[in-house]
Amino acid sequence: MITLPELPYAKDALAPIISANTLEFHHGKHHRAYVDNLGKLIAGTELADADLETIIRNVAGDPARAGIFNNAAQVWNHSFYWKCLKAGGGGTPTGAVAAKINAAWGSYEKFAEELKNAGVTQFGSGWAWLVLEGDQLKITKTANAETPIARGIKPLLTLDVWEHAYYLDYQNRRPDYLAAVIGRLIDWDFVNANLG
Ligand code: MN
Repeated sequence: MITLPELPYAKDALAPIISANTLEFHHGKHHRAYVDNLGKLIAGTELADADLETIIRNVAGDPARAGIFNNAAQVWNHSFYWKCLKAGGGGTPTGAVAAKINAAWGSYEKFAEELKNAGVTQFGSGWAWLVLEGDQLKITKTANAETPIARGIKPLLTLDVWEHAYYLDYQNRRPDYLAAVIGRLIDWDFVNANLG
């Protein structure tokens, strides 16, 4: 049974960068709806007791089960996104990922610019990602519910660029939301743990 995970912090912990109001809707309504919809779609099927990653990999690329994929992937992506953020985070990374970022982009500033640009240029809804492919860090973006784990690629960090992630706080200013989150909320300890 797939359930809604608790946020790893209080609803007001990320304010003013992400308000309690946004988290109330984003976690309490949007994320919960994906969990509830998924539960209804897999009830009584062979996927009813499967774990989330198994469900995603099983239905990925199957047009007949796009509804299951979309809801399952959105549940996974959101659970991962919450853990990518923390109060007092962001800015220059620490740990092993710092060296890998410098090796791949030359500087944190260049990396931050490219990550922001991935989110800004994702047309419509989707996600910006830092992923590990082989031993190489890459910045990617995906549309709607698409997730690197469906393709066996290891995500290290994600940023939600659906309008529901920022509209209450930033209206149409997606670049401002991205700059603030990258600069002040990324949990580099979580990113480093994902590298291991
Ligand atoms: Mn979202």
